[in-house]
Parts: sequence; C-alpha cells; structure tokens
Amino acid sequence: MAERLDKVFVEVEVEDSVAGDAAIAAKLEEVCPVDIFKNAGGHVEVVDENVDECVLCRLCLEAAPAGSVHVRKLYDGTEL
Ligand code: SF4
Repeated sequence: MAERLDKVFVEVEVEDSVAGDAAIAAKLEEVCPVDIFKNAGGHVEVVDENVDECVLCRLCLEAAPAGSVHVRKLYDGTEL
C-alpha cells in the first residue's frame, strides 16, 4: 500500500488562544471550502489529511482574530 504524505505543501496552525473558542470553531468549519477545520465539540481541530487541499483563499484568516490562524506555504517558506 502506498504511503500517504500529508502536510507536504501547506501547514495550517490555530493558536491555542482561539482553538477552544466554540464560535470560532463553528465559523472555521463553515468557511473553509476544503474542510481543513473541524468543529470538535466547540474546539478547532485541523484535519491533517485535508491540509494539502488548501486553495489559499484566506477565508479562515478573515474568520478568526488577526494572527490566530497560520497558513504556511511549505514549498516557498512564506505565510498567508
Ligand atoms: S486558506 Fe482557505 S482553503 Fe486554506 S485553510 Fe484557509 S479557508 Fe481553508
């Protein structure tokens, strides 16, 4: 069976300060078009197997307080 490689192109991180905020968890789950965020009972969970599907749309950045969500492009070392 082929090995799956996740988080090769993009890395997504949510700061602890907002990860436990139920309203933000719900909002992030709603806005991301490729289901990278899961609202796990009011806590934000990053779905590792979907991270490389990120389309760099910035909707998550707009849905959360400034600086609380990080989308890093691992292939060129920059962050949205
Ligand atoms: S930039 Fe867009 S696709 Fe990428 S994690 Fe944020 S909402 Fe999802």
